[in-house]
Amino acid sequence: MNKIPPDWNNIDTVLLDMDGTLLDKYFDDHFWEEFVPAQYALKNGISGEEAVEELMPRFRSHEETLDWANLDFWSHQLDLDIPALKKQIQHLIAIHPNVIEFLERVKAAGKEIFMVTNAHGKTLDLKMERTALAHRFDGIITSHEIGMPKEDPAFWDKLQEVVPFNPARTLLGEDTEAVLRSAHGYGIRYLVFVASSSSAKSPLDSESFFSVRDFGEIIP
Ligand SMILES: [Mg+2]
Repeated sequence: MNKIPPDWNNIDTVLLDMDGTLLDKYFDDHFWEEFVPAQYALKNGISGEEAVEELMPRFRSHEETLDWANLDFWSHQLDLDIPALKKQIQHLIAIHPNVIEFLERVKAAGKEIFMVTNAHGKTLDLKMERTALAHRFDGIITSHEIGMPKEDPAFWDKLQEVVPFNPARTLLGEDTEAVLRSAHGYGIRYLVFVASSSSAKSPLDSESFFSVRDFGEIIP
């Protein structure tokens, strides 16, 4: 589809996803696949396996929607205090290797850097509190503010209203191929797939997009 490595002379704007891209997705995977089912099982007097069996299809049915990332939605659906549970395992929130150096060098090269995330405000707040990354961006935009997830091709036009950018001179870093496809459709030229989204999983390169193990590979 588009396997062009970044050419920093032709890039003014850098858009970066948060979970799995800048931060270790192990936190999110562990939270939704293990920690929440265990808490749900305790609360409802069922086994852990029964909880997983019941919850996974419910989670999947909301993928690629704003509800999926909405902690209040899931608190209500599951009758659990999801933000409080996230706090309980916040020690697992971690920045991927070479991210800080990458952000510093991109900034020093005069590029604008925006975080663009599907994460809910409460998740974002917890993660920024934990990682102290927020000051490194020229802005942070959530899909909830835009009104649709990044997978929606209309997302990028709406994003332009908040953060004007030239798609031909923009780089997007992402660990979700569906988002890269949607951005490709909009004309964003430099698309970088993060193949090591979780420290608990083996890296898997994209067949369609230029892939890196970590941002150390494309430091300007
Ligand atoms: Mg992600």
